[in-house]
Amino acid sequence: MIGDDNARMEFILMLRQRGISDQAVLRAMEEVPRERFVSEPAAKQAYADRAQPIACGQTISQPYVVAYMTEVLKVEPHHRVLEVGTGSGYQAAVLSRIASRVVSIERYRTLADTARARLKSLGYDNVEVLLGDGMRGEPIRGPYDRIVVTAAAETMPEALVEQLAEGGIMVLPLGPHHDAQHIVRITKTADGLKHEKLIAVRFVPLLPGQAREL
Ligand code: SAH
Repeated sequence: MIGDDNARMEFILMLRQRGISDQAVLRAMEEVPRERFVSEPAAKQAYADRAQPIACGQTISQPYVVAYMTEVLKVEPHHRVLEVGTGSGYQAAVLSRIASRVVSIERYRTLADTARARLKSLGYDNVEVLLGDGMRGEPIRGPYDRIVVTAAAETMPEALVEQLAEGGIMVLPLGPHHDAQHIVRITKTADGLKHEKLIAVRFVPLLPGQAREL
């Protein structure tokens, strides 16, 4: 059965077994109905621990990676969070259950429109989905306490570093497209940036500009 209590319980157990321990993250992962974010034929597999295709040749990230990135981002209830790469809206939904505000940017209009409607229908009204180039961030709504990028950057997106508040944290997959990438955590301190290289991952590429196709 899709989204039944058993599937959700096993899902949370799997995340715990893989090392996710932050209670707020586990609660958010339990609350957000993942089956609403995958395409209809994939709904039965929504709670499997793997990435799945969505429209525009993109993917909804693997649940473990969503939970892991949210945990290492250390989101607190008063935070304003920027996400780059809305995709299905799933990561934004998880963040919205922990932070006070989430701004999420997507370069495909189809994905942005679908995610916006989906998040609204779920009543997640502290998320704002914007269409545009997330590599440039959204300075007007910043600075952000936390920034998460959910597409792989080949080089550090400097505009995002600038929009990070002092004491802020950014988590992003960094590395060559279609090759080995790592989750990197940047902490902005008064003395400069602290870099930490975390787990190995595979993400779709972070690309410049708004998509020309829908
Ligand atoms: N966070 C998403 C995963 C999306 S996959 C989820 O939970 O479903 C990465 C997304 O980043 C894709 O939708 C892709 O179109 C988008 N993307 C890539 N480069 C971008 C950019 N420069 N600005 C905004 N979105 C971008």
